[in-house]
Amino acid sequence: MSNVRVRFAPSPTGFFHIGNAKTALYNWLFARGSGGTFILRLEDTDVERSKDEYAEVLCDCLQWLGLDWDEGPAFAHVPAKGDYAPYRQSQRGELYRGEANRLLDESKAYKCFCSKEELDAERERAAAEKRPPRYNRKCRNLSPEELGAKGDAPFAIRFKVMEGVTEIDDVVQGIVRTDNKEVDDFIILRPSGDPIFHLAVVVDDGLMKVTHVIRGDDHLTNAARHVMLFKALGYDVPIFCHHPLVHDEKGQKYSKRLPGANVLDWRKDGYLPEALINYLALLGWTPSDGRELLSLDELAEQFSIERLSASPSRFDLKKAQWLNGQHMRMLSVEALRDRVLPVLDKAGFDTSGKSSEWLTRMAAICQEKLRTLNDIVPYTDFFFVEPVAYEEKPARKLWSGADALDVMRTIRDTMLALEVWSADALKQRYEEVAESTGQGVGHYIHPTRLALTGKSVGPGLYELAELLGKETCVARIDRAIVYIEQLG
Ligand code: GLU
Repeated sequence: MSNVRVRFAPSPTGFFHIGNAKTALYNWLFARGSGGTFILRLEDTDVERSKDEYAEVLCDCLQWLGLDWDEGPAFAHVPAKGDYAPYRQSQRGELYRGEANRLLDESKAYKCFCSKEELDAERERAAAEKRPPRYNRKCRNLSPEELGAKGDAPFAIRFKVMEGVTEIDDVVQGIVRTDNKEVDDFIILRPSGDPIFHLAVVVDDGLMKVTHVIRGDDHLTNAARHVMLFKALGYDVPIFCHHPLVHDEKGQKYSKRLPGANVLDWRKDGYLPEALINYLALLGWTPSDGRELLSLDELAEQFSIERLSASPSRFDLKKAQWLNGQHMRMLSVEALRDRVLPVLDKAGFDTSGKSSEWLTRMAAICQEKLRTLNDIVPYTDFFFVEPVAYEEKPARKLWSGADALDVMRTIRDTMLALEVWSADALKQRYEEVAESTGQGVGHYIHPTRLALTGKSVGPGLYELAELLGKETCVARIDRAIVYIEQLG
């Protein structure tokens, strides 16, 4: 195992957004491609907004996507693992307080006794004078006497920002320089003893020996403060890699309300996780050979943070759908069968009476047509339940003509006369019948399909007829004949 250690550090405060999935993926790919360690850490210090159920959804989504982690906290069905536990920030309070006090002892931080009212008033004054809101450093240089006089008054701990320039050589963004004058003496520990995000994230990355911080560029503005903290705490500064957020068509951050924002919706809609992964990988990274269709293993092999793009990419639902269709076709028929079975079960179809061979054939005859796993339901429902109605428009078109009944009776006779019930034999007979009557074969195929499936589109007719079996096919043709007779 290499010494690469990366982490995905989501806050369980809402559903699992595709932007989060992209960050998780890039970390995972980088870890897997470099033989490193992928850490899952929950940034759940916001007690109001963090919820266990969101953490469980997160765990579920990562598992569905196939992004396994080497270290992380316990979830309902997953035990904790890793040597740097706990991996939930809410359980690491003592560590943060210890490190904040260390900074205090080393005079790299100071106690701030300013009340909320005082700070608010200061902020308002700054706004009125059109100055940026800055802490006036009132408590930065309190004398020992002044400090003593405060007794046990509540205090926050503030980081002492030193003069100079903080430079980050970001893998994606290049050199980012911040004049420390632009950075306030920021609070790291609240009077309650709770850490501020910046302290928690740096202490965790430092103590967990994180080597690369790969995260969304919404955190770029935090990075200078983080680097100051890393240095002040004596930790190794990791390599930063701030990749652009996912944007919508208007170039805005992809809103939670837009279709496809929630990873769970992709699963619900029958998308393959490998297709979503493939799509998210391309949404900010280009493989060196320009190929678009890649498996998870191929992605891990080819991925490099150097090829991450600095410009945001726009979410393109159509492309994701296209990729899904491609991945559906890449599955072996057995794999496709196993993936569609739960979908059919969920739709209430009883597949238990069918042999595995039959189900494999069923999957095979649909494979080219399916865009999502859920498409299997309208494509195969007639195998499990008798069609209750015929699609209206095709029924009118195909069955209101003068020869409709004759056509159906010919079909019935053709079927009954067949000794070997197979797709090939059916095809041969249909073509012979068409030729003998001088009609196109469609003249017989379309009404047969409507009678057997109730629909005008679906899997190949001869193949589905073979799978339905002779008896069922003849019975359904009979039913259609009765239906047409009643029309007349
Ligand atoms: N918890 C932060 C977020 O969800 C991640 C912070 C980080 O990666 O450093 O945006």
